[in-house]
Amino acid sequence: MPDAVNVAVIGGGASGMMAAGTAAANGAAVTLFERNERVGRKLAITGKGRCNLTNNCDVNEFLNHVPRNPRFLYASLTAFSPADTMAFFESLGVPLKTERGRRVFPVSDKAYDIVDALRAYCLGGGVRIMRDRIREVTAEGGGVTGIVTEKCGAMKFDRVIVATGGLSYPLTGSSGDGLGFAQRLGIKVTDTTPSLVPLEAGEPCASLSGLTLKNIRLTVKDSSTEKTVYTEQGEMLFAHFGITGPLVLSASAHMKPGKEYTAHIDMKPALDEETLDARLLSDFKKYGGRDMINACRDLLPQAMITHILAFAGIDPHEKCSSLSREKRRSLLVSLKDFRIKINGKRPIEEAVITSGGVDTGELTPKTMESKRVRGLYFCGEVIDVDAYTGGYNLQIAFSTGRAAGCAAARP
Ligand SMILES: Cc1cc2nc3c(=O)[nH]c(=O)nc-3n(C[C@H](O)[C@H](O)[C@H](O)COP(=O)(O)OP(=O)(O)OC[C@H]3O[C@@H](n4cnc5c(N)ncnc54)[C@H](O)[C@@H]3O)c2cc1C
Repeated sequence: MPDAVNVAVIGGGASGMMAAGTAAANGAAVTLFERNERVGRKLAITGKGRCNLTNNCDVNEFLNHVPRNPRFLYASLTAFSPADTMAFFESLGVPLKTERGRRVFPVSDKAYDIVDALRAYCLGGGVRIMRDRIREVTAEGGGVTGIVTEKCGAMKFDRVIVATGGLSYPLTGSSGDGLGFAQRLGIKVTDTTPSLVPLEAGEPCASLSGLTLKNIRLTVKDSSTEKTVYTEQGEMLFAHFGITGPLVLSASAHMKPGKEYTAHIDMKPALDEETLDARLLSDFKKYGGRDMINACRDLLPQAMITHILAFAGIDPHEKCSSLSREKRRSLLVSLKDFRIKINGKRPIEEAVITSGGVDTGELTPKTMESKRVRGLYFCGEVIDVDAYTGGYNLQIAFSTGRAAGCAAARP
């Protein structure tokens, strides 16, 4: 291919493989560099090994699930939408299914089917996959010139696509190399922080470790301003270090470093205070002269009862028939607003996603090209965009990878 544009893609994850395959399909001569022996190591563990590859919704709805820089993604998501992603994988022979919350998975429930399909898409298009770690991206006079690899040294390329991922789960190969490439070329990188990550908290979490709360409402407030940063209904669980589960991971995406937060748990979000009070009265009538610890068993998971009673200042052995109106009120408040002080996020290594990265202001949204260095593109998690759980992050990797691959192949 003498006239083909020579493209290097750094990183064989979701975004890198999409970018490489797309550039090759658009006529470029593409070399994909992956430091691991196999491509797609992180992709293979997504969705607990089932790979929630996208969310079956339209672009406007999608952007409601992107707390960080959603507007930057509009052009690439419109050009390659969740529907396009689904059609793409089905055309590669991977049948898909849509589950609760419009989450899309392969029918086989095997993330490896997505990895294999992307790998085959690359190889089928003529992409050369090399195992090598890239040390540097080189540029001269405002344009990219190539890369420096661990094994081969300096190599010249017309275009370079950086798809090295973020900082989370570094054992999969994503150790933030791309952020260093950007910074050394004078490209602004915003501070990185863990997102979609469990939260650390003290008691009673450790003693409730293993308990799952379903159909609760979790509200997280800034402790100093009392401002709500997140509120949603769903599921959470207690762990030895604090709290985790879908609601907690999503809440973490709204929490900024250096601030203090409190988790407020509404154990009965479907009942307003009046209805809940009537329910308490009816339960106490039913349990007559029993201790409070027994009278609450229809209302709460067993493990939770003593903690809610303690929070309400009620002796667990007080008879429910003699509970004062004030104490009943205090119990009601504890049920609607059980509070846990958050001590911080778990480390970035345990985060599903890295928040922060290459500043979106540095890139052209349609092409993912750097505004500072011609011929240099970024895609996927290395960019300062991140979303909630539900298939949104992989879709971002696919859409931005697609955009970079199309643009980099242009003569
Ligand atoms: C446990 C877990 C579960 C997840 N589940 C889901 C899910 O179900 N749905 C969803 O939407 N998102 C999920 N995510 C998020 C999703 O995995 C990421 O958003 C996505 O993988 C980002 O793709 P990427 O291509 O940007 O980066 P990555 O997938 O991290 O790929 C980057 C690649 O670059 C390689 N690399 C890095 N530096 C170099 C270098 N210097 N030279 C050569 N190669 C290099 C790495 O080895 C790696 O293979 C999950 C994340 C985790 C950790």
